[in-house]
Amino acid sequence: MMIDRYSIALFLVFSFLVGALDASAGDADPLYRACVAECEKTGCVGGRCFPQCKFPSDIVANDSPWYMQEPLYLKWKQWDCQSDCRYNCMVDREKEREAVGNGPVKYHGKWPFKRVVGIQELASVAFSALNLAMHFHGWLTFSILLYYNLPLRQGKKLCYEFASLWNIYGLLAMNSWLWSAVFHSRDVDLTEKLDYSSAVALLGYSLILAILRCFNVRVEAARVMVAAPFLAFVTTHILYLNFYTFDYGWNMKVCVVMGVAQLLIWAIWAGVTRHPSRWKCWVVVIGGGLAMLLEIYDFPPYQGFFDAHAIWHATTIPLTYLWWSFIKDDAKFRTSILLRKAD
Ligand SMILES: [Zn+2]
Repeated sequence: MMIDRYSIALFLVFSFLVGALDASAGDADPLYRACVAECEKTGCVGGRCFPQCKFPSDIVANDSPWYMQEPLYLKWKQWDCQSDCRYNCMVDREKEREAVGNGPVKYHGKWPFKRVVGIQELASVAFSALNLAMHFHGWLTFSILLYYNLPLRQGKKLCYEFASLWNIYGLLAMNSWLWSAVFHSRDVDLTEKLDYSSAVALLGYSLILAILRCFNVRVEAARVMVAAPFLAFVTTHILYLNFYTFDYGWNMKVCVVMGVAQLLIWAIWAGVTRHPSRWKCWVVVIGGGLAMLLEIYDFPPYQGFFDAHAIWHATTIPLTYLWWSFIKDDAKFRTSILLRKAD
């Protein structure tokens, strides 16, 4: 009996380990690794050759413009070589795997996507750009509403107490989607760090904003006291990721905790408030929570384009529209309260 139980436990641990390894099976595959190593040396994969891989440094003349000179230009060429090698080896390996009836596996944490004019994940890039456009539209209409449509207080001051906080939110969101689009079109160390750092900054800031708005913190000193520990933590975390170690697991935990915390705060607030637009809050919270499941139930790209991550970026487009609509309603609502008090 004892042995049976041990063997079952061992089997479970073993199958779990195999499952975990399988998640990054693509780039752990020795055939793929050999292919990439060979390609980076010779510049060729199965008859296709990439001139970027044989790039002599003396080609860059001294009188060429600054951006053509070392090290940025050479680094770019090096990235070109590496990414062309990885892509073509991946395509070849996936064809071989498909021929023997195996499904797609991830390479360097990503599914095998079809490349279009050098863009690695076309769907994610397109949806990131649409998210950016949606935030720009929301932020612009919010500013127009505040400065042209709503009454101003004496000395041309805005009535809405959270205006500047939402303005910063809009800028951080647009910054984040910009780097998301860049990262999904070209996945290298630098773009990855920029994307992750901007996303962490946005998540951390929107958590602070959720606390300040839901608890109706309007006094400047109180706002600083609430925000300071969060700002300190988020800044340290970003520095840690960029200059110490890029720990995906730890970063995932930090992001999930910050994301879930703000969803909970908004959900509880929407549950107790008498705000006329609280239903918009509800839809965004529930929609955002459901969309998060797509990150957990990761599936390979349909037609080589639409994977779970891309669909996740697509779902946030309508949610963003609704969210800015809620923010604008909040500005109108708070202004009307203030005017009633002044009467
Ligand atoms: Zn993304």
